[in-house]
Amino acid sequence: MKKADMLSRVIRDVPDFPKKGIIFKDITTLLQDAASFKTAIDVLYQHYKKEKIDSVVCVEARGFILGAALAYKLNAGLVLVRKKGKLPYKIYSITYALEYGTDTLQIHKDAVKKNSRVLIVDDVLATGGTIAAVSRLLKKCKANICGVAFLIELTFLNGRKKLKGYPVTSIIKY
Ligand code: AMP
Repeated sequence: MKKADMLSRVIRDVPDFPKKGIIFKDITTLLQDAASFKTAIDVLYQHYKKEKIDSVVCVEARGFILGAALAYKLNAGLVLVRKKGKLPYKIYSITYALEYGTDTLQIHKDAVKKNSRVLIVDDVLATGGTIAAVSRLLKKCKANICGVAFLIELTFLNGRKKLKGYPVTSIIKY
């Protein structure tokens, strides 16, 4: 069986969470299975091992889990993008539109060096709004975005459109 199919089997679909009509892709069932967690990180590692990535950039909270393991394997630094008010030092901020209202993401100004090679990692590509905002933060840092990686892509939401110009990879597509 293909690795993507094996991983897909251990992701739990939770209907109507967090609200009616959404099928939530619950990756806790993948993470708690040692072989599946290892496979997920290894597949991503194989994809980027030759890219000379300086930093893996991820968003709280589930992005941190995949990002940390992948950064360790790639021998790269780990950069945290956080919700408003969590980072203690000098920051860049981006406010972006959600279905209802807005959200703000922040990064430390000195988190990545100018022209450094960064890889963005997250668990799910849905509408792409979150990672498009992360890419704008990284532009402010003048980083070189070498890739955007997701464990899961919800292709019917066309999130890739919002990430045009960046090489996007996803392991499992729905
Ligand atoms: P988006 O900005 O729409 O691409 O969504 C970004 C974040 O929302 C992802 O990092 C996921 O953690 C979460 N998310 C969106 N849709 C789902 C879903 N169906 N199942 C699980 N997580 C989701």
